[in-house]
Amino acid sequence: AKEIHLASRPNGEPVSDNFRTVATELPSLNDGQILVRNIVMSVDPYMRGRMNDVKSYVPPFALDAPLDGGAVGEVIETRNDAFSVGDAVSHGKGWRDIAVVDGKGARTVDLSRAKASAYLGALGMTGLTAYSGLTDVAQFKAGDTVFVSGAAGAVGSLVGQIAKALGAARVIGSAGSPAKVARLLELGFDAAFDYHDGSVKEQLAQAAPDGIDVYFDNVGGDHLEAAIASANKYARFALCGAISQYNATEPTPAPRNLALAIGKELTLKGFIVGSYSHLAGEFSEKMAQWLADGVIEWDETVVDGLENAPSAFIGLLRGENTGKMVVSI
Ligand code: NDP
Repeated sequence: AKEIHLASRPNGEPVSDNFRTVATELPSLNDGQILVRNIVMSVDPYMRGRMNDVKSYVPPFALDAPLDGGAVGEVIETRNDAFSVGDAVSHGKGWRDIAVVDGKGARTVDLSRAKASAYLGALGMTGLTAYSGLTDVAQFKAGDTVFVSGAAGAVGSLVGQIAKALGAARVIGSAGSPAKVARLLELGFDAAFDYHDGSVKEQLAQAAPDGIDVYFDNVGGDHLEAAIASANKYARFALCGAISQYNATEPTPAPRNLALAIGKELTLKGFIVGSYSHLAGEFSEKMAQWLADGVIEWDETVVDGLENAPSAFIGLLRGENTGKMVVSI
């Protein structure tokens, strides 16, 4: 079998030398475990934080040990009565072709309903992040004007479409290329802009002349500052990610206008999707229906081959994906 190890900790932007592909012997299973041949794995922005040797809400990755993360695969051997050979499962042992998985860490998924990668994207952690962040953290209600950054990415593209499906008055997205902006307009966003085209603050003010009621933040920095500037009284912010800072080697200054939150009586609330698993049932039902009805479309960028997982991850941080970045194994 093969797995990808963290060979060294990135300083700033990760490079391929930070990763190493390692051949391994297949271990024998203990009671309760299953052997899974991975079909597809996820690369996610939060993994960048785990490559630093700092304490966070998830412990750092160890050097010279396999990375891990979301994956979907097929059970090829089982010592757990809850799983049969041939079952498809979603689990946390990505970055390898064959995984020994504790049954407690695996969940059966139905590949006749949706393909494997859907359970990493729209129907998985990504979709729940968008849904719980918008509806619960930001307390979205019909008639709101919503701004989402990182809007052509996995979480962002779902946030905008869910907001439209739930009756947003206006949805505005920002993204990193003209092609992504065009895609957002196709997906039903009312306005979209490329943040490279000038000041985010000015572009947002133009796209939201009546201000915004909800900001779903995937980017941080100047995007957050712009959203504070455009916020209406009592606007709610879901702080989901700050990808503009993940490769930073120095503390970053923006937002410089946080004091505006006082007079505008803003709510800024950070969240981690793991704390919203109680919404998973309601979310999967709604999302399955939206996908079936074509109300929500879901893009993905697929990179082929486990050995290309590091370049998929590096590319994700550079914006080489539209929708969810996944690696087919
Ligand atoms: P995406 O699919 O959105 O991929 C990351 C995107 O970030 C890239 O495609 C790129 O698009 C954009 N980006 C990279 N650098 C910058 C920059 N300097 N400024 C603006 N945009 C940048 O990833 P996800 O949908 O998986 O994640 C989106 C955000 O949500 C991340 O911040 C992530 O950490 C967060 N997240 C948080 C969770 C939680 O529980 N709180 C759970 C899941 C995700 P572009 O071309 O537009 O620049």
